Amino acid sequence: MVTQVARSGHEGISSSAETRDLRKAGLKVTLPRVKILQILEANRDGHLSAEDVYRGLMDAGEDIGLATVYRVLTQFEAAGIVVRHNFEGNRAVFELNLGDHHDHMVCIGCGRIQEFKDRTIENRQRQVAAETGFELTDHSLILYGRCRECQAAH
Ligand SMILES: [Zn+2]
Ligand SMILES: [Zn+2]
Repeated sequence: MVTQVARSGHEGISSSAETRDLRKAGLKVTLPRVKILQILEANRDGHLSAEDVYRGLMDAGEDIGLATVYRVLTQFEAAGIVVRHNFEGNRAVFELNLGDHHDHMVCIGCGRIQEFKDRTIENRQRQVAAETGFELTDHSLILYGRCRECQAAH
């Protein structure tokens, strides 16, 4: 079913997918929020720092300050739209919360972030928690090392 969305004064953004996502998350639709969400959507597989998002906005000709980017990303995190990671040696990075659990490998040479999923590791973690009577709510597993390119650079 297509619902006609009333014009909110932000021309061209009132019926976009981003607008729907913001409303669903209980956030008011503002131009910076829509534009930042568009950058994140365009990098669905990426892990972007606030500076990356800011640069993306500048490249798209959008005049949105870095402080606003930080504020919006923090609001997105609170609303569950993005997940924030504080990897060692990296600035905080954000990725869209697509509801699919995965873990990360982080290159200490170039900062590259690689996602991975491993059923055996996932199961083992649940077993370890269960064996100790620990109620698992979440986990974060980060492997640090050197990517192929950084190994080859020696
Ligand atoms: Zn590397
Ligand atoms: Zn990720």
